[in-house]
Formats: sequence, structure tokens, C-alpha cells
Amino acid sequence: MAQDSLRRLAGELRRFIANQEEDEFILTAAPQRAADILPSASVQPAAQEALPKMPEGETLTVEFTRKPKSITSSAAVEVQPTAETGQAADSQISLSGSLMTTAQKTTALAELAETIKSCTRCPLGSSRLNAVPGEGNVDADLMFVGEGPGFDEDRQGRPFVGRAGQLLDKMIAAMGLKREQVFIANIAKCHPMTDPLHPEKHGNDRAPNAEEIACCRKYIEKQISIICPKYVVALGGVSAKALIADAKSLGALRGKFYDLHLDSVTLPRPVKILATFHPAALLRNPGWKKDAWLDLQMVMAELGLKGAAK
Ligand code: URA
Repeated sequence: MAQDSLRRLAGELRRFIANQEEDEFILTAAPQRAADILPSASVQPAAQEALPKMPEGETLTVEFTRKPKSITSSAAVEVQPTAETGQAADSQISLSGSLMTTAQKTTALAELAETIKSCTRCPLGSSRLNAVPGEGNVDADLMFVGEGPGFDEDRQGRPFVGRAGQLLDKMIAAMGLKREQVFIANIAKCHPMTDPLHPEKHGNDRAPNAEEIACCRKYIEKQISIICPKYVVALGGVSAKALIADAKSLGALRGKFYDLHLDSVTLPRPVKILATFHPAALLRNPGWKKDAWLDLQMVMAELGLKGAAK
């Protein structure tokens, strides 16, 4: 096959895949919201676009690079209020009184991140490549908590940077927020592997077990108490069960707010928690995206974000 045709096909394929990925959460879960927030050109269901044809017998490798994000673990991120939501401005106003200042939070989270990076309280401490303390806006009104780092997170030391993370970014964008406006962390801070002797293997992920969760619990509890967001969204059953302290299934827990009570810390003000599907589960079961969107809309309504269901 001629070089030129190959190059053109690679370009078309890259654009096709980008369109599929781009805005896919919002297009699938909430087409009306997509019409409000996405440029009109991209509000065509991606599936309507025809997949470029690959000549029989040829193979084509297309590489995609992900833009590196500039946030560092637990660093304070200066957030400009968005004209649409006024979200950041509201965060600053509401975070006062007995709560820590932004500078105090930044210092406390940075110190905690250092402790986490040298933690060997459970065996995950010896198989990890990098601990993943969490990152985002220390003054966030909204915090997302997943179960534990995977392959990509272990390599980068940052939460939700793999495929599930890309979907989480879209879920956050669908809410009218930027990733930098929220705080993202996990229950387990190190990569739970099915085969810890081979951290280089893909598909080597598992959920943290009860012992690992018990060892790590104080870290997420401390992070929540420092940031003291108004709302925590628990992503998936592991996170939901650990934080809501209820053995019910995710299906039974999701769709309503709970008062968050933590074991090792007292929260400076009440925090509500809501459970929804883990983005990795949504990648496996796209049909659940509509329900995930209903959950996120409940949080949007509480935060006064535009586009929440009335
Ligand atoms: N899944 C999680 O629960 N957390 C991550 O950071 C990445 C994938």
C-alpha cells in the first residue's frame, strides 16, 4: 500500500477514534447536555461516522500521545471561577471559619503525600512503582474517590490517568467542571496487582483487599478531612462500601446522599457522599452511563451547577 494512502488512512483513523472518545460520555449519557456544552460540530453521535476501510491483508499501527497534565500530587491549583458556574469563587467564599486555609491545606496534603510515598504498612508498598496520593484543588467542593491505582497510575504516580481516567475527565467535563477544580484520590494508594512479581504486565490489576483497605484508610480519611469538600463521589463498589461503611451492593447504595462519617478523623463540617459507577465499569458496560449521569446530576443540583436535572 502506498505511503501516502497509509498516511491518509492513519489520519482518518486517528480522527475517527478521537471523535469516538471525545465527548463520548456526554453524548451517550446526556445528549441534551451535549447540545448545551459541546461545539455543534461534535454533537453528532460518533457512531454515525463511517469507519475508514482497511484494505484486506494490511496492518496499520497508529500511535496516540496523551498531553501531560501539569498538576502535581496534592499541589494547590489556582482555579479561575468559570463564568458559567462561579464554582471556584463559591469554594473560596464557603471555605472559611474553622476550616484550614488554602496554604494550610496545601502543606498538610503535601506532608501526607510524602508519608504515603514512603508507606510500607502493607505488601503493596513493596510492589508499587509509585504511590499515588491524589491530586487536585485543595479547596474543592467536590472530591472523587476511586478504588486504587492501576497500571498507568502506578507509572505516573497520579490518579485516574489511564482509560478509566479519560472517561472520568469526560464525566467531570459533562458536569461543567474541569479536572483541576475537583480533587481526585483513591482508597488504596498503591497499585494492587494480581501478580506483584511482574509489575510490567498489563491486565495485572485487582481491587484492594480488606487488609490493604484497612492499612490505607487513614490516608483517604485524612485527605477528606483536610480538603473537607462539600460532596464526595465514591466511584465503584469498593470505594462506596469503604466510605459509606455499608456492605450493600453498589446498586443498593447509589442514587442517594449519605452523611459521611470517618473512623479516624472528625470532619470540620458535614460532608455528603454519593456512590456511582466506577468509570472502568462504565467502559465495560456503556449502558450504565445514563444512570451514572443521573447520579452526577444529583451532585450538580446540590452544587448549583448549570445543566442539573430539575
Ligand atoms: N481506577 C481507580 O480506581 N483509580 C485510579 O486511579 C485508576 C483506575
